[in-house]
Amino acid sequence: MGDKPDLIPGIYNYCDRWCERCAYTSCCLQFQIESEEATTTGALQDFDALNARFWEDMGEALVQAMRLIREMAAQQGIDPEDLDKETVLSRQQESFHQNAREHPCATAALVYSGMVNEWFAAVDEYTDADESLLTNHPFALDEHLQVIRHYQYFIYPKLVRAVEGRMNDSAIADNEQQTDANGTAKVALITIDRSLAAWSVLYAEYPAHEDKTLSILVHLDRLRRSLEVVFPAARAFIRPGFDSKPA
Ligand code: SF4
Repeated sequence: MGDKPDLIPGIYNYCDRWCERCAYTSCCLQFQIESEEATTTGALQDFDALNARFWEDMGEALVQAMRLIREMAAQQGIDPEDLDKETVLSRQQESFHQNAREHPCATAALVYSGMVNEWFAAVDEYTDADESLLTNHPFALDEHLQVIRHYQYFIYPKLVRAVEGRMNDSAIADNEQQTDANGTAKVALITIDRSLAAWSVLYAEYPAHEDKTLSILVHLDRLRRSLEVVFPAARAFIRPGFDSKPA
């Protein structure tokens, strides 16, 4: 650490473990230990700047995704605001006495993983192509498909860890911000946001599958809002490096 003053302590504790897309490799001890080739700080900073632009573009896509969900859901008679906060909270209290893997948010994340596989299988079957969409797709969709696939199985274990953290720290007040459970829930929320943005692009690209895509968008949106009810302070958690540089 003394030789590397730019390193940010603990930045890797609340990241999405997608180093190829990370804008902070030059500040991350974990990355620098794990990367097999020695890379100069300048080269890492150039790489980080490219990735920072990628995520800025994705942030704009999320705004469009939110608008799309509301428009499409209204057309199909689905109410995306149909989220009973009291039900979510009472189920939360019940499930804190069970395994964290049975928590409604964790279960919903697991369901999402399956919905993604079903979507890809349906598109492959419909197009009847020799190769799967995953290996043969338009270049313009490559980054969005990468986002979906990278986070498909990432959200569930994060939510289990967040819920377990809450169970273990039951004495901590709901509005206590800097807890491991909130930090973990925040990472899950961010990956859900990014997945929503990517799915909104696929919605427009695959009109033959818009019902399935809309179901995924609405499911993810509900999961996102349920998480915000269960972890009301999660969005405010300050992740080292990503949200602010430590003094
Ligand atoms: S902070 Fe970035 S570089 Fe470090 S482990 Fe996480 S994703 Fe990889």
